[in-house]
Amino acid sequence: MTSSAEITCAVCGQPAEESTSALCGECDRPFHLNPRNDVDGRDCGEVWVDEQFLSLRFACFTCLRPDADARSGRPSGRGEATASESSEPPVGKQH
Ligand SMILES: [Zn+2]
Ligand SMILES: [Zn+2]
Repeated sequence: MTSSAEITCAVCGQPAEESTSALCGECDRPFHLNPRNDVDGRDCGEVWVDEQFLSLRFACFTCLRPDADARSGRPSGRGEATASESSEPPVGKQH
């Protein structure tokens, strides 16, 4: 019995199976989510436990990182430079 419901990942656009996908809590669209670490699978989103509601929350990468396409594959290394800059006192009338 083949599942009649076809799922398409909202992040990568590839077909997904119900057992390896989840529904994003933000955009309400399905995305790849590998429920097991010991099985090779695709992750197009994240799942975490909401401490307020004590329930699992799902979010696709599209919602987590709206600009992921523009800077895909880029590590957030530039944050350090910004951090050291902001460690200085705000620019005032010190000069
Ligand atoms: Zn996907
Ligand atoms: Zn989403």
